[in-house]
Amino acid sequence: MYRQAKWDEPLIFELSKPGRIGFSLPEPIEDVEVDIPEKLKRKKLELPELSEPEVVRHYTRLSEMNYGVDSGMYPLGSCTMKYNPKINEEIAGHPKVAFIHPYQDERTVQGALQIMWELEQWLKEITGMDRFTLQPAAGANGEFTGVMIIRAYHLDRGETQRNEIIVPDSAHGTNPASAAMAGFKVIEIPSNEQGMVDLEALENAVSERTAGLMLTNPNTLGIFEEDILEIAKIVHKAGGLLYYDGANLNGILGKVRPGDMGFDVIHVNLHKTFSTPHGGGGPGAGPVGVKDFLKDYLPVPVVEYDEENNRYYLNYDLPKSIGKVKEFYGNFAVLVRALTYLKIMGKNGLKAVSEIAVLNANYLTQKLKGTRGYALPHKELRKHEVVFSAEPMKKETGVKALDVAKRLLDHGLHAPTIYFPLIVHEALMIEPTETVTKEDLDYYVEVLKKISEEAYSNPEVVKSAPHNTAVRRVDDVLAAKRPVITWRMYKQLKEKGEIDI
Ligand SMILES: *Cc1c(COP(=O)(O)O)cnc(C)c1O
Repeated sequence: MYRQAKWDEPLIFELSKPGRIGFSLPEPIEDVEVDIPEKLKRKKLELPELSEPEVVRHYTRLSEMNYGVDSGMYPLGSCTMKYNPKINEEIAGHPKVAFIHPYQDERTVQGALQIMWELEQWLKEITGMDRFTLQPAAGANGEFTGVMIIRAYHLDRGETQRNEIIVPDSAHGTNPASAAMAGFKVIEIPSNEQGMVDLEALENAVSERTAGLMLTNPNTLGIFEEDILEIAKIVHKAGGLLYYDGANLNGILGKVRPGDMGFDVIHVNLHKTFSTPHGGGGPGAGPVGVKDFLKDYLPVPVVEYDEENNRYYLNYDLPKSIGKVKEFYGNFAVLVRALTYLKIMGKNGLKAVSEIAVLNANYLTQKLKGTRGYALPHKELRKHEVVFSAEPMKKETGVKALDVAKRLLDHGLHAPTIYFPLIVHEALMIEPTETVTKEDLDYYVEVLKKISEEAYSNPEVVKSAPHNTAVRRVDDVLAAKRPVITWRMYKQLKEKGEIDI
């Protein structure tokens, strides 16, 4: 019997019926003696007993409680949840790609090395950098790699006093975190009214202690830092380096390059810009690119191509290398997906990505602008994403950005990023991406407008949302402070009467 998944969907253990089976095994061979030490033998094995169709239907039902990029629009600003073409999965899952082993001899994995080398050439061309490491497993891992390279560079030159990294207040939280992890003191500078780096504040912040500046451009407000060349001049003049947080290149692909803006070190999130399924913790890839004068500090190994012998090899001979930042060569399957995507999109396709991503963000901005309760702080023209503020709504009706996000779920939509960047109160950070239709955008705006009307006429409906989802509003403080993560924990707490769900 079909029924829609509910929050109290039975666990597979609860569906179990003794004696019911969902497998068939060959008859055991009688005369084989298996000598398992007594202490290793299980006394009992508690497995649910169900038929195969029951198992399939159970998990299909659970999957219907989920929402992903294959379900619909997922405008999670900064994080870029765009549609990932299925061909990427096909190539990454090909046995010749999936079943190779990192310990294999170089001669037997020439194709894998070629994939990595070719991906590096693409990234160099797209970003204007001179060399890349593909090793970092995520954006944050890339940032850490990048700031460690900046650190190694200054130490190498005897400039040991350079212990400060400057970060604007619109930065992604990983920027100050990475700088601090690499041993730097973090100096935060404010943004100006337009939502860009305040040049005067930057001038005042730089000194002989400046190791570098970390910047996202377009920044997390979706605004392009127009003064980037001036910013680069100020930092370089003070002897610092420029770090580009290129987690999200969707606003500039094929248009401008961080290398040409004056950046010395960058990271790129392949999982955001070059279409790898992510969320829920990974896996991702955050390759780091550097200008020529920093290439000796890259993690080992780097992939080289010996043109004369048409041979790819791994180069560990970088005496100044900061070392390894992840085991082996990075998340290889993610690299394969990215190269597949790049080759299929080609130069013109990549340009179209940024053009449509920017068009979509601005279309949505213009349609939503002026709606009661949502303010649009800072400059109006955006790149790939826009940040609205629900602060007027909160002041006038008590409905917060969180409530708006929850109410969107009732309409079968995913919420945008909320409460980030920190400089916008009650932030709703919307990144539609290039993979949505005009109808998707119209519907999203229509629902946001409807929620605004509700907030002013019947705020309780919004405050108590979601109403139509399998799981209603969760207590996220309790979930974080006292997570119940196994069925056994749940059973024990329930028996003791300590939880009532
Ligand atoms: C996502 C993101 C990061 C961090 O990337 P992870 O892969 O999640 O570690 C850093 N900066 C910006 C601007 C981002 O959007």
